Amino acid sequence: MASKMYAICTLPGDGIGPEIMAEGKKVLAAIGARHDVEFRCQDQLIGGAAIDATTARGQKPTALPEATLQAAQAADAVLLSAVGGPKWTNTEAGAARPEQGLLAIRKGLGLYLNLRPVRMYDALRAASPLKPELLEGVDLLIVRELTGGLYFGKHEREWGVEGAGVGGTRGEHACDTMDYSEYEVERVVRWAFEAAARRRGRLCSVDKANVLETSRMWREVAHRIGEEFPTVEACDMYVDNASMQLVANPGQFDVIVTENTFGDILSDEASMLTGSLGMLASASLGSGTALYEPSHGSAPDIAGKGIANPLAQILSVELMLRYSFQMDEAANELAAAVQRTLDEGWRTVDIADDSTPADHVLGTAAMGDKVVEFLG
Ligand code: NAD
Repeated sequence: MASKMYAICTLPGDGIGPEIMAEGKKVLAAIGARHDVEFRCQDQLIGGAAIDATTARGQKPTALPEATLQAAQAADAVLLSAVGGPKWTNTEAGAARPEQGLLAIRKGLGLYLNLRPVRMYDALRAASPLKPELLEGVDLLIVRELTGGLYFGKHEREWGVEGAGVGGTRGEHACDTMDYSEYEVERVVRWAFEAAARRRGRLCSVDKANVLETSRMWREVAHRIGEEFPTVEACDMYVDNASMQLVANPGQFDVIVTENTFGDILSDEASMLTGSLGMLASASLGSGTALYEPSHGSAPDIAGKGIANPLAQILSVELMLRYSFQMDEAANELAAAVQRTLDEGWRTVDIADDSTPADHVLGTAAMGDKVVEFLG
């Protein structure tokens, strides 16, 4: 018996989800065996799979059954694959949709912070749309606030308001409110400083303090919290400049911390630096159980073919080890195994190119096996 046990709620979801989840579990089992930890995984339904199962049972169709939420809340961590697919694109009002499962579980777990690491693998430089010399040393972490700002402010729309429209009184008026409380900023910024202190000791707080009051408060909070972390070299950057710097000189960044909308946009921009969707993991942390998932979707076009890239799922496991279980040594081993897999030329079809020998193009399960083989 292992000396420690962690309960993982596993949510394979739809499309390639079950295929890549199998590799995530394979890696977890191998890590557990090496570090004397049992990761007890229990599958639950989410997304289209949950809609189908609840429909088949004659229940109200739902993308997040109550049992799933309860299991997730009770677990030590949640590992999700992806949801969605053409089978569930019913746009009728009130119809259950797979993506509702994602929103509901994020809310149910009280997740308020999203992490998106972007690491450049030398072996995959050709896949990036940027010039190889710009990608030197790229290894950054975007920390995005997840529950405040524009997306959760008031959204209003009125017709015929005085003075609206071109030169007159007719036309619509729309308004979205950007709203932040100090504590929402504090908890995210403090987390980001702690992460920077554990990484390369640099933090860039991104705002639009020359225009927005929420940003001016954000900046004040960031400066105040920064005083608690004298070893972290902190700077502020306006979001327009940050979006430029991310493509002009991405190697300058270590941890970037920012509010919800800016983080949404910057993390997608940053994800393109690597050029390969199959490599990007993410984590969402909050007051309860944390959730780890690949950044890509359910890839219905390749589902069932055994060719999906499992590395984003495997790198989600790396984040879980690091941030839920403080198993940094195991996380580093896993990161090194992925690195070695790529350095030795092993590819799934999405990251292969003309120079990849045919016998180095692996299916999903064989890629997972390679990572396990290189664990040590
Ligand atoms: P997608 O990320 O699923 O796929 C985009 C392209 O990338 C496809 O060509 C796909 O084959 C490829 N791809 C993605 N992941 C891959 C992997 N691991 N290995 C190899 N190739 C991979 O995005 P999409 O096609 O826009 O969406 C498909 C479905 O996924 C939709 O129903 C969408 O709503 C859903 N979706 C879910 C999530 C999530 O669960 N978090 C995120 C995005 C999209």
